[in-house]
Amino acid sequence: MGDVTAAGQQPEPIHDVLIIGGGINGCGIAMDAAGRGLTVLLCEQDDLACATSSRSSKLIHGGLRYLEFFQFRLVGKALAEREILLHNAPHIIRPLRFRLPHQPHLRPAWMIRSGLFLYDHLARRKALPGSRSLRLGPDSPLKPHIVRGFEYSDAWVDDARLVVLTARAAASHGARILTRTACIGAERRGDLWQATLEDRRTGRRSTHLSRALVNAAGPWVAELQQSTIHCQVHHPLRLVKGSHVVVRRLYPGEHAYILQNEDDRIVFVIPFENDYSLIGTTDVDYQGDPAAAAISPQETRYLLRVVNAHFRQQLQETDVLWSYAGVRALADDAHGKAQAASRDYTLDVDQPPGQAPMISVLGGKITTYRRLAEEATDQLCGLLQRPSRPWTAGAALPGGDFADPATLAADLHKLYPWLPDTLLRRFCHSYGTLTHELLEGCRSLDDLGRHFGADLYAREVLYLIQREWVLEPEDLLWRRTKLGLRLRPAEVSVLRDYMDIRTRWHAADHS
Ligand SMILES: Cc1cc2nc3c(=O)[nH]c(=O)nc-3n(C[C@H](O)[C@H](O)[C@H](O)COP(=O)(O)OP(=O)(O)OC[C@H]3O[C@@H](n4cnc5c(N)ncnc54)[C@H](O)[C@@H]3O)c2cc1C
Repeated sequence: MGDVTAAGQQPEPIHDVLIIGGGINGCGIAMDAAGRGLTVLLCEQDDLACATSSRSSKLIHGGLRYLEFFQFRLVGKALAEREILLHNAPHIIRPLRFRLPHQPHLRPAWMIRSGLFLYDHLARRKALPGSRSLRLGPDSPLKPHIVRGFEYSDAWVDDARLVVLTARAAASHGARILTRTACIGAERRGDLWQATLEDRRTGRRSTHLSRALVNAAGPWVAELQQSTIHCQVHHPLRLVKGSHVVVRRLYPGEHAYILQNEDDRIVFVIPFENDYSLIGTTDVDYQGDPAAAAISPQETRYLLRVVNAHFRQQLQETDVLWSYAGVRALADDAHGKAQAASRDYTLDVDQPPGQAPMISVLGGKITTYRRLAEEATDQLCGLLQRPSRPWTAGAALPGGDFADPATLAADLHKLYPWLPDTLLRRFCHSYGTLTHELLEGCRSLDDLGRHFGADLYAREVLYLIQREWVLEPEDLLWRRTKLGLRLRPAEVSVLRDYMDIRTRWHAADHS
């Protein structure tokens, strides 16, 4: 964790792979490669999942709307992954039913039925029920003129926790994960890469050698290539911003809505963190620093307008409690509408004869990260002439080694009867079986230590510092958890002071 050895202090080992970027793709490749026996170093300039991978719509989905662009291969691949991921991470990924209100002037019923038939059958579906037509009664939260609709299955993911658990799996296979550590230079020295990393907290620089380089810098992929690695990107890239807003829960029930809009786009309304609804997304071509991406007033108005056209309850800008924006790096030229740009990924391999190889990751979806990582690792093993066998399809992520969330919740309740229900549910969905590790030795609520507000106690804070690379309150409040929605500013300030000392102790222990 940010503990780079300074150049000259002690010799660094030569790693097989240096991965730049701690989003889902970088961490996915780190896990797969480390599990196949490659030595891996991953550097992330900020926190794990600080960029696109915590700012998604949080769906593990085939992408119903991609069928309109005839992207059957992508949809089939993503639907197959949906089954695998539901099985491998049942704590942070769960089934989600979607309701699609019928708007005959936008898409005729036969078209939607055909699309849903394909969606049900493009890949083997074991875990989820198929689609069906719906009559919407007087208890529907939608406007009274919307009386028909359709229902189909997809899945929801805690995107930021997916990244951190993947990083934990990588680390458990020996990968070294350095957060707050930027790659500021990389050049080929024959069949090796020599990279300079900078610890963003101390300014300390270190030099590292590796046999291969992976550029998984997401929306920074082209900039990193041009200004830091001084190589050409072989594929055109398009940056497209997407934003979301969070409001108080709009309706009871665990289902989501997919709303059609006049501009051919769709907007999701998704139950979020029990008490809220998540609304998104937009597609806006983007230039500038991806870290500075934020929702614009026009995007907020657009999202609220689509919701207000469908729901009885009318929202105003003052109802927005939180918003976030992310930047997709799409392997696509800049022609056509942003929403039509393909969400599939490309692995760009660069290896001049006799020189060390580099793989750049362009595009992709969270849903297909495991497949992307598998293909990238196959290529790495081929390039480095190492024998290898894919292994991640059947590998549970840390905490995901259980079959049924209800049984896990009942088991946890039996062992920790003093744990309040809301906290037990949150632990179940965040940590799965790792809850035992978090609560080791605890016999009562008092053993969780200091209370910071909402249901956050010192025990969890320390666990996240020690096991999940948490260094700043924002890492904890907006990525490892979403308690940022619930803690008051004064409580955050107390937490900040507490963490400041604890993270320094932890760094001292590991330096
Ligand atoms: C609005 C929106 C909604 C989406 N919804 C979905 C969805 O519902 N389902 C789905 O499957 N997909 C969705 N996606 C797509 C998905 O989020 C992305 O495909 C995925 O997160 C990309 O991950 P990544 O690892 O490539 O990039 P990122 O998560 O952006 O990670 C790249 C990392 O590289 C780091 N980095 C950059 N430069 C350096 C450097 N020099 N040194 C060290 N580190 C560096 C960055 O800090 C960053 O953390 C959505 C995307 C957006 C924008």
